[in-house]
Amino acid sequence: MLNNQILPKYRVMQHQFGIHMKGGVITERNADFSTVRIRAPAGVLSAEQLRGVAAIAKRYGSGVVHCTTRQTIEIPHVDPKRLKNLGKALEKNGTPVGSEQDEVVNIISCPGNERCKFANIDTVTLAKKIDAKLFGKVMPVKMRIAISGCPNACTSPMLNEIGIIGRIRPVRTEGLCTGCGMCVYYCKEKAIRVRNGISELDDEKCVQCGVCVRSCSFNLLKELHTHYLVTVGGRRGRHPKIGRELLTVDNEEQILFVIDKIIDWVYRRAWSGRLLSEQLDELHFEKFREDIMKQVPEAGLAKSHTLTLTSI
Ligand code: SF4
Ligand code: SF4
Ligand code: SF4
Repeated sequence: MLNNQILPKYRVMQHQFGIHMKGGVITERNADFSTVRIRAPAGVLSAEQLRGVAAIAKRYGSGVVHCTTRQTIEIPHVDPKRLKNLGKALEKNGTPVGSEQDEVVNIISCPGNERCKFANIDTVTLAKKIDAKLFGKVMPVKMRIAISGCPNACTSPMLNEIGIIGRIRPVRTEGLCTGCGMCVYYCKEKAIRVRNGISELDDEKCVQCGVCVRSCSFNLLKELHTHYLVTVGGRRGRHPKIGRELLTVDNEEQILFVIDKIIDWVYRRAWSGRLLSEQLDELHFEKFREDIMKQVPEAGLAKSHTLTLTSI
């Protein structure tokens, strides 16, 4: 719950001081200077935008930029008196001032199926869609959202308030297994073995990365179910926590709906001044899961989406 005393005051200050109160404007150790962080969903910028940021950093900062862990760029050493003009220049460049306070901050994602051979989902498009709907929304707690195209989890989604991971549930189809062992070789989890010349799977060990599906030249392993796993309440930093698995959904429309619902739930119920990870039980996480699963009947429980490969 946002403290009613604080929120209007904060908004009034934002109105009065404009860019000086934006989350993406950070007072430096030497308070005579500000660092300005930009908004860059999925960390993707065009070459023209990069040139623009470089020129702005030269004109308003010290001529250097800093690439952050949240896939944004910071322009350090800005004179606070020039923030207004810098904000306009960034806006014109298509890289507006970002956020860093108790808000929905820069959405990060790995390259996903646009470039990565391991990816199971289109992460960049999803990040941009979430950004368009939710970026900068003032929240009782900081909301970091990270998306990974597969369980390799290169963006550490489970260490964010909301994490999204693309997974594939493989299935063994009818056909003659040659026992070549290619799928065994490619499965890093040792979840497949060849016994008596045929493949067998240990579904307890499978993390649903989908690599085996692409490894079988005989197409015996097929993609049964591509889905998005959603985790809530993770965090890194001083006291890192792995997020709790909320559910799995099947498509982009459903995932956007679920993310909206999580944001709304946190906005309405969470307490400011505390980490989301510490409030999940008080916020009745399990009840929230039940409610949301009623609203998305196709949703599954993360743990229930283990696969059963049949052997032949
Ligand atoms: S998380 Fe998976 S899909 Fe994304 S970059 Fe890493 S390996 Fe590729
Ligand atoms: S999907 Fe499961 S069985 Fe297939 S390679 Fe990944 S972990 Fe192994
Ligand atoms: S499932 Fe395919 S890759 Fe695996 S052992 Fe059988 S034929 Fe080879």
